[in-house]
Amino acid sequence: MLKLYNTLSRTKEEFKPQADKVTMYSCGPTVYNYAHIGNLRTYVFMDVLRRVLKYDGYKIKGVMNITDVGHLLSDADDGEDKMVKASREQKKSPVEIAAYYTEIFMNDTAALNIGMPEIIAKATEHIDDMIKYVVALQEKGYAYETSDGIYFDIAKFPEYGKLSRLNLDEQIAGARVEVNSEKRHPADFALWKKAEKNHIMQWQSPWGMGYPGWHIECSAMSRKYLGKTLDIHTGGVDHIPVHHENEIAQSEALEGCKTVNYWLHGEFMLVEGGKMSKSLGNTYTIAQLKEKGYPPLAFRYFCLNAHYRKKLNFTFDGMDSALTSLKRLYALMLKHKQGTEKASAEALGKYETEFRNAIDDDLNIPLALGTLWTMLKDEKDSRDVYSLALKFDTVLGLSLDKCEEYADKPEPAEIPDDIKAIADERWEARKNKNWAESDRLRELLKEKGYAVKDAKDGFTVEKL
Ligand SMILES: [Zn+2]
Repeated sequence: MLKLYNTLSRTKEEFKPQADKVTMYSCGPTVYNYAHIGNLRTYVFMDVLRRVLKYDGYKIKGVMNITDVGHLLSDADDGEDKMVKASREQKKSPVEIAAYYTEIFMNDTAALNIGMPEIIAKATEHIDDMIKYVVALQEKGYAYETSDGIYFDIAKFPEYGKLSRLNLDEQIAGARVEVNSEKRHPADFALWKKAEKNHIMQWQSPWGMGYPGWHIECSAMSRKYLGKTLDIHTGGVDHIPVHHENEIAQSEALEGCKTVNYWLHGEFMLVEGGKMSKSLGNTYTIAQLKEKGYPPLAFRYFCLNAHYRKKLNFTFDGMDSALTSLKRLYALMLKHKQGTEKASAEALGKYETEFRNAIDDDLNIPLALGTLWTMLKDEKDSRDVYSLALKFDTVLGLSLDKCEEYADKPEPAEIPDDIKAIADERWEARKNKNWAESDRLRELLKEKGYAVKDAKDGFTVEKL
């Protein structure tokens, strides 16, 4: 029985989807910059959830949005649009910026074996859906117009704050909203913004030219593709107090019912014990990790070692040990793949139950990994063990089937300089057809414990 921790109830609940096909919405990236390792951790979590659902036999209809308009610098609708700012700074059009960073995001997630949801929805391709949504909210009396936009009237939605369990004063303090004298309440948020004449992204609407707010995008797209009520909605914990609170307000105001049954949130990543921020220069990307010699799957393994609801402290020491462990895992897999022993069905059954119990307990992947390690280390080398480990890997996503390719090959022994010099001398003698000298030097190398192997255009020296 799968249990998931629901942020709304603050408890682990038995997962009961509405139908065989699980409907799931995941807040996606705002594509104005590279996704950093903290962002990517959230998508590893999303991916693991999808994999566990599939392992348990469910089918999934998943949607993820790509925010390419409307995400202002502050989540609470202040400041400039992130896309517009990036466009000005990088001297490219918002469309070019979005295309560029979306492609990198897709490549990074693919390198991390993150399976993408079935539907990827771009905000700019759903402007009409958002406008219709805002019109409907206005007709129902939940929205009002000011000189700069259409705002959601949170006084009309008394349950506002039920996800974050913050009262409005705390919300406002947290969101640092600027005072806008036309807003009825400081926490009212923009559904639609009227555009200044020279604003770079704007669309025709019943309220003149403008662009959508960020929150409306997720409500409109999830409604369009998944209907009134979703089984699961995921995001990062940073989304809880403003973005997801606003999504609930909009969606439930419009539908008049509960619109998400299970809210799941991935925790933050810290770097060297502190906050991750652009100004500290510690918002690492997958490309930067690769440059430092860490393959993307080592980062995935690093993430899997912590439960998704625990803060994870990123350190390079931690990455070193993740890489070492992962290589060891591939080496163990290889041993089992080549093994000839027969594993006991009873033992395998026990591991399988342990693994299933761990993943079904609110995705306890660290515990599930423990089962994998114990099995690979304790059992005799056997193809049966290898096959079961591959089944586990449908959840872990560590490409364990590529163990041959990824297993750590023994490092070639360092050849001392004096040995290299003798080998070079022998190669010269050989080139000059001085066979006697060449043979003498080969013997000398052998006495010193080295073998030389000739190839067409060179030679290699190996320690005997
Ligand atoms: Zn969202």
